[in-house]
Amino acid sequence: EEEKSLNFIEEVIEEDLRKGTHDGRVLTRFPPEPNGYLHIGHAKSICLNFGLSQKYNGLTNLRFDDTNPVTEDAEYVESIKRDIQWLGFQWAQELYTSDYFEILYQYAVDLIKKELAYVDDSTAEEIAASKGTPTEPGIPTPYRSRSVEENLMLFQQMREGKYRDGEKVLRAKIDLANPNMHLRDPLLYRIRHVHHHRTGDKWCIYPMYDFAHGQSDSIEKITHSICTLEFIPHRPLYDWCIEKLEIFPSKQYEFARLNMTYTVMSKRKLLQLVNEKFVESWDDPRMPTISGLRRRGYTAASIRNFCDKIGVQKRENMIDVSLLEFCIREDLNKTAWRRMVVLDPIKLVITNYPDGQVEELTGENNPEVEGGEGFRHIPFTKQLWIERDDFMEEPPKKFFRLGVGLSVRLKHAYIVECYDFVKDPEGKVIEIHCNYIPNSKSGEDTSGLKVKGTIHWVSVPHAKEAEVRLYDRLFHDENPVAAEDFKSSINPDSLQIISKAYIEPDLATAQAGKGYQFIRLGYFTLDTQSSPDHLVFNRTVTLKDSWAK
Ligand code: ATP
Ligand code: MG
Ligand code: MG
Repeated sequence: EEEKSLNFIEEVIEEDLRKGTHDGRVLTRFPPEPNGYLHIGHAKSICLNFGLSQKYNGLTNLRFDDTNPVTEDAEYVESIKRDIQWLGFQWAQELYTSDYFEILYQYAVDLIKKELAYVDDSTAEEIAASKGTPTEPGIPTPYRSRSVEENLMLFQQMREGKYRDGEKVLRAKIDLANPNMHLRDPLLYRIRHVHHHRTGDKWCIYPMYDFAHGQSDSIEKITHSICTLEFIPHRPLYDWCIEKLEIFPSKQYEFARLNMTYTVMSKRKLLQLVNEKFVESWDDPRMPTISGLRRRGYTAASIRNFCDKIGVQKRENMIDVSLLEFCIREDLNKTAWRRMVVLDPIKLVITNYPDGQVEELTGENNPEVEGGEGFRHIPFTKQLWIERDDFMEEPPKKFFRLGVGLSVRLKHAYIVECYDFVKDPEGKVIEIHCNYIPNSKSGEDTSGLKVKGTIHWVSVPHAKEAEVRLYDRLFHDENPVAAEDFKSSINPDSLQIISKAYIEPDLATAQAGKGYQFIRLGYFTLDTQSSPDHLVFNRTVTLKDSWAK
């Protein structure tokens, strides 16, 4: 491992450790809102938060930021936990912001008592209109001067359900002229008569993000609260609440969120893709979700490695999705077992090979490691399936595969020379006729012949069938959200289904969750919908970056 320079958050932590801040303790948190499945952007945040605590002997809490009951669901909670664990991380404590509702309520009462919060009866429109503009100060609403006693009573009544949604809000009393709009008496609580997936109907007022997040960090004694750049203007409010409430001084730090080409990265947009059936589900292999990537055949190690490579920046940027593909290729090249599969079959007949003879050839599972991780048997017979595009009726120069008069090596087997082909009445080639060279067998070749091409094949009587799914980018545009409607950029041909591919017999016992290299075709894995009597493989990635640039 080469020595890497510290990122700016590591620098902050090392400085804190030197100064003995928080007694040398490092406690981070990952705070997802359970309103969707995690995506690759969340993976960056997970790797960062858990990575820091691992590096500095600290801990990371998993906190579900469940203050918005309308969009949240227990299904999402379960998927989030599964994905974090799959990525290889374990949280110290599983916590919920909703468990802090009572404390947060008491904090709000505390602010009221300090004359730092008030109940406002204005409508949302009135409040927005009275906030002013970045260049002009806001003006107080008539409710800003309410007494502490009145505010305490009204806030309690809000909690008791005396008012309808939107009738009243609790606001911080800070500064209506502050250049930072977030400090112009921000909302702290709003009324929502809705069922919460954990607290049920206990509450009808819910804290706003800015009142819940920093205080939750403080309650847990989080030392370094890491979030994305859009929260920079929220930081003064984060600090204000902690200071005025005189509670544990957690500190917020901001880094650039991950943006990646040819995809969208917001749960709201991903949910639209699911609801409007552009994809099958949250874990559709075309989705940038962690569950989609897993189903597609990405390994946790490749995602962690990707997050490590992209690093931690202070400025917005766009990462090329081909870097993610590079990471999975690099991983699977070292670990995937090699197998032969024919996606678009045409029959090759070796006319000088004995009828009915079966040779058990052997092929290394993994030529990338010493010993090859063992061998599998590959039956070889007179009739083979090969790829249709490995034959040409009129091959151009430098076509190093099959055509009349051309020779190739059959992987793990013999050199064959083509001398004829058969067409059906429509003129489609249906059979290729070859002779094999008996003393050219791989590993014991004494023929002295040199051929440039090697092709894959599957024995006709031994071939098993499988469905194979090939994926392309889900979006045509590099940055789909730049378009007026990101859905106008959707690629309608992002999924190609090969309903009957021929696989070598050993692949019938392929293991779920394992990567296979189908020689010359790419890396594949079993789909979650696969079953022993209907095998389904997903292509994780092609062998090379084949996208036109
Ligand atoms: P989305 O807009 O996709 O819904 P979010 O920020 O609302 O994202 P949260 O569930 O609140 O989603 O996110 C949990 C954590 O993950 C937050 O700390 C957030 O900053 C971080 N995060 C979310 N998206 C990204 C991203 N693209 N890159 C890096 N971190 C991210
Ligand atoms: Mg959020
Ligand atoms: Mg969001």
